[in-house]
Amino acid sequence: MVAEQEAGVAIEGDKQWPRLEPISTGIRGRCPRCGQGHLFKSFLKLADGCDVCGLSYAFADPADGPAFFVIIFGCVPAVTFALLLEIAWTPPLWVHLATSVPFLILTCVLPLRPLKGWLVCSQFFFKAREGRIAEPWHPYGADGPAVMPAKNPW
Ligand SMILES: [Zn+2]
Repeated sequence: MVAEQEAGVAIEGDKQWPRLEPISTGIRGRCPRCGQGHLFKSFLKLADGCDVCGLSYAFADPADGPAFFVIIFGCVPAVTFALLLEIAWTPPLWVHLATSVPFLILTCVLPLRPLKGWLVCSQFFFKAREGRIAEPWHPYGADGPAVMPAKNPW
């Protein structure tokens, strides 16, 4: 648990970690806390934890976020290209194998890992997690009266 945050430094226990931008650590597949350890143990499978600082990656759950971004910004243009190519020129199959298939791989498979790394590092950076039921707030200490959080008017 981060006890205190100062300008650019996260203090956790007696150690200080630099606040690393998720885009720089995620794209390189590095640990979001130390920036040194590996985030992945295979192409898309996350490691259990950082091999340098010991941060557990149990918090990481990008779900289908990387696939969503790849579908919207990679797959749709690549399939559109293949369809337009087929409609415009009706080329033989080898043309699609030489153009459409590599274009699909470049735009749909290769971006998955950096996108997943970026989303996991963003989860750590912004402390994103599932919602929890708020506990009563004790503004006058543990012995004082509890105040329930205000209900969301929406
Ligand atoms: Zn680390």
